[in-house]
Amino acid sequence: MDLSTSEQAAITSGGDFWHTSPVESADIPAVTVTDGPHGVRMQATGGDLLAGVPATCFPPAVASASTWDPELLRRMGEALGDECRAQDVAVLLGPGVNLKRTPLGGRNFEYFSEDPILTGVLATEWVRGLQSRGVGASLKHFAVNSQETERMRISADVDDRTLREMYLRAFQRVVTRAQPWTVMCAYNRINGVYASEHHWLLTEVLRGEWGFEGLVVSDWGAVVDRVRAVAAGLDLTMPGPDADGDAALVAAVESGDLDPALLRRSAERVREMVLKAGKRPAGGYDAEAHHALAREIAGRAIVLLKNDGDLLPLGSSSTLAVIGEFARTPRYQGGGSSQITPTRLDDALTEITAAAGGEVRFAAGYTVQGDADEGLLAEAVAVAKAADVAIVFVGSVHETEGADRTSIDLPDTQVTLIERVVAANPRTVVVLSNGAVLATRPWDGKVPALVEGWLLGQAGGSAIADVLFGRVNPSGRLAETIPVKLADHPSYLDFPGEHGHVRYGEGLHVGYRGFDARGQEVAYPFGFGLSYTTFGYGAARATATATGVEVRVPVTNTGVRDGREVVQVYVSLPGSRVRRAPRELKAFASVPVAAGDTADVVLTVDRDDLAYWDIRLGRWIVEGGEYLIEVGASSRDVRASVTVHVAGDPDRVPLTIESSVGEWFADPRGAEVLGAAFAEAAGDGPMSAMTANPEMLMMLASLPLARLAAFPGSPLSAGDLEKLVAAANY
Ligand code: BGC
Repeated sequence: MDLSTSEQAAITSGGDFWHTSPVESADIPAVTVTDGPHGVRMQATGGDLLAGVPATCFPPAVASASTWDPELLRRMGEALGDECRAQDVAVLLGPGVNLKRTPLGGRNFEYFSEDPILTGVLATEWVRGLQSRGVGASLKHFAVNSQETERMRISADVDDRTLREMYLRAFQRVVTRAQPWTVMCAYNRINGVYASEHHWLLTEVLRGEWGFEGLVVSDWGAVVDRVRAVAAGLDLTMPGPDADGDAALVAAVESGDLDPALLRRSAERVREMVLKAGKRPAGGYDAEAHHALAREIAGRAIVLLKNDGDLLPLGSSSTLAVIGEFARTPRYQGGGSSQITPTRLDDALTEITAAAGGEVRFAAGYTVQGDADEGLLAEAVAVAKAADVAIVFVGSVHETEGADRTSIDLPDTQVTLIERVVAANPRTVVVLSNGAVLATRPWDGKVPALVEGWLLGQAGGSAIADVLFGRVNPSGRLAETIPVKLADHPSYLDFPGEHGHVRYGEGLHVGYRGFDARGQEVAYPFGFGLSYTTFGYGAARATATATGVEVRVPVTNTGVRDGREVVQVYVSLPGSRVRRAPRELKAFASVPVAAGDTADVVLTVDRDDLAYWDIRLGRWIVEGGEYLIEVGASSRDVRASVTVHVAGDPDRVPLTIESSVGEWFADPRGAEVLGAAFAEAAGDGPMSAMTANPEMLMMLASLPLARLAAFPGSPLSAGDLEKLVAAANY
């Protein structure tokens, strides 16, 4: 049944905070949408906004991304889908695929990586898993929402190539490969235009180029002007109701200011989404099984950064000192809309105590707020001294949506704690709890073992014990670089911006791309992580195929424990005609390898992922040439390399009168046409000697053709220009 204009307006804004608007006359019910992304945060009836009904708090994206395992992300998506069904949720508001542009990003814990391919591959599987349960995803925050400072107004000013290759790339991948039911527009502006009003972004790119079939929903409160938003391609404004906005839409349609077809289409999309959601079966879920899955993912997310003298894994008979309030009161998720009320919560102290054969003594070392005093420090030192091994839990104190961090350093008191404990007991393991990277220098030089424990969700405590005691052989890898210091970071000089604008000055050189381009030292590189075993790589082979490049490499577990290696493929094109980072991640695989075994690992680089965005042609281009394929255990640990020839895409840029003499000569047809014109003019005037002499020609190379023609005595006349262009571009 057709909806009236006012019904169309009403259905395109929410019924309340977490429901769409029903239209009874048309039999369209309301459906529930809720956060996301690492759990189902269903607001309890009568409860406050952020208090949820208990649900599994899976590891936030900072951790799940460190698994580098798409299969795990798919299983997490499926489990989330089951929990949504159980709570009658139609759309779960995630995943968040914004790039971690700066380590200070307040929501970095909700995002995957500083790399768009890693982000896109993992998020695609998450969406597939969730949607396989008949529950919709909401890919967010579209787009360029990489900071919290001034998040509702800031303009992220970014050049086209960077936008396409870095900030839109993960969105493009997820949309084209997994068709999320909804995409959530961001709060911020992009190059001056609010995401919620960005026609190019929401309509031309998202639907026109990528073929998005679903619904665009606003971030909560992102819409400034309903009429402009609908005109740009935004379908559903949340939250609601929004009677004024509804009335403005009706008035705009009646006055002719808004094409009625646009409002009708948005209303239709809401209806389609609601009807699709109606098909999902109700269901329940096994909370214990989901807790076990959360534990498995968390265990796989932990990154072993340092393990001198094989201090880890711990033997079961040692006497242990567990130090640090975070061992007892875990930091396991960040603040804001993603905050889950967990079904249960494991803490590391209990789990270590249960796993240890020997005595375990605890000292808090500092308070939940991160403060320490001499009394707490002295107690920690005494406990450390009396133990075979000390395990110190430290980390960031606050990380939340809505606010960026101001530092990447641990609180001073925690650094003091580490230093005093390690002085008292050199066999010290440090375990970090943090949603975004923390600087580890210089204190990590003194500790033999360092474990990056992220924010691991509700089963983090048991997962940490699994890794410390070797029940899980660590295989997590850094999805973001740990810099030596904040000022080294490529984003440092252009964050968080001022006067409403943040300039993405480092361009393409986000994260490891920037560190590598400058040959800068880092504390721990992108892709890094140790294991309790070791892996050897054989020779790599690469074959170009119609759809990309197939890379094969044998990987041998050279140690005595079964383990898992994350094999990474980085690609570059030496001598490329466009600026590129020294190496870019293009494929990866998390591969289990039993002790002594060899796995023949096959990785596929998609041809699309080799492309750069050509701003002259306004499209993706695979440049032909000899690509260098580097296979490694991290971005700075290349174990095998090979080159492969890849045929290029047609990429001829039509010649114009504004093309330079050099560009004309670089083009075979242009060189023929212009060379003939110059030869014809030889001897005719003062510049003819220049055009006949190759060295002189180099001097003319940067002159646009029209400018050359304007010079007195030029071998070309203004009248020749269009003829030359026509001849060159025929
Ligand atoms: C956040 C979104 C979230 C929404 C609903 C906003 O503040 O930016 O990520 O989905 O609130 O809670």
